[in-house]
Amino acid sequence: MTQRKPFSLVGGEKQNRPSRREAEKAVHTLIRWAGDDPDREGLKETPKRVARSFEEFFAGYDADPVELLKRTFEETDGYDEMVLLRGIRFESHCEHHMAPIIGKAHVAYLPHRRVVGISKLARLVEVYAKRLQIQEKMTAQIANTINDILQPLGVAVVIEAAHQCMTTRGIHKAGVVMVTSRMLGGFRDDPSPRREFLAMIGNPLGGDANMA
Ligand SMILES: [Zn+2]
Repeated sequence: MTQRKPFSLVGGEKQNRPSRREAEKAVHTLIRWAGDDPDREGLKETPKRVARSFEEFFAGYDADPVELLKRTFEETDGYDEMVLLRGIRFESHCEHHMAPIIGKAHVAYLPHRRVVGISKLARLVEVYAKRLQIQEKMTAQIANTINDILQPLGVAVVIEAAHQCMTTRGIHKAGVVMVTSRMLGGFRDDPSPRREFLAMIGNPLGGDANMA
């Protein structure tokens, strides 16, 4: 195992969680700070709604990504070709501005005796997306978790996403898509499966697939 212990760290934080009431009060303060009256009719229920939205946006803190991948299937009749889940749409929030990151993830692995239900790969993306993130870290977390738990012959993760902290504030660059990738095992060492993977997802890394 590597140095990452996402869930146990998060579990420790959980004990210090403020109450929902405190969270609502914080939103109330932010509305006032923005310059509006949080007690006017239209905003009266807003702190409650925001707190509920946060429960949805950040539901990933309550899920254990390791537990998620533990149930595997070994009856694969020797299947050893790439397993690819392409274009998994996700919504996340950047940890610097808490602005939405909207994108899609492509997740592939080269099975070594064991496979996992494909819905679990989509769930894994969701668990990491529904936390405060930077795209680079999320890409690595998804790849590393699959690598650690399934111990496949290779893992490839590519994420393409738009960051609203770039489009709605700061430098206001609309239409920019950030692409990150993490290749492990056979995808890193061998250009052939990497080329196949990148071709199957439309080569968002651009250029020569051999150089990915
Ligand atoms: Zn940001």
